[in-house]
Amino acid sequence: MNKENIEKKEGSNNNNKIEFSAPYIGQKEMKRDSYRRERGGTSVILIVSCANCEQPIMQYQKDGPGALLRCYLDRILFPKNLSSLQKNPNVTSTATMPQLECPSCKAHIGTPMVYEKEKRLAYRLIPNTYKKKKDKRTKDKK
Ligand SMILES: [Zn+2]
Repeated sequence: MNKENIEKKEGSNNNNKIEFSAPYIGQKEMKRDSYRRERGGTSVILIVSCANCEQPIMQYQKDGPGALLRCYLDRILFPKNLSSLQKNPNVTSTATMPQLECPSCKAHIGTPMVYEKEKRLAYRLIPNTYKKKKDKRTKDKK
């Protein structure tokens, strides 16, 4: 989905839909930390959308190479209801994480998991339920 298509979502009356609208209200800079360094220091920002209805679901920073299999909570940049989970004191385990659903058609996109090696909460993405596209609006901080 290109920027124009994302902006077409603006103006929807459905309050459940995320407005990936201009002026852009997601994050404009990538995170740089040890998780990223351990994956080679290269990152890309993705817009993950619903394969069923094309509704954008989240802006996500993927660190390192390889396929997108899971989304760590601490790499979800937008929207706030998902990006705030990483700072929510009530969200301490997979049991307290909501399922990841499309905000529009309610398709089930991801299930809560822990990446044991780093003890990081994440969503395991369900194959073929989502699409991803590079978000070129986000700059890498020097
Ligand atoms: Zn959907």
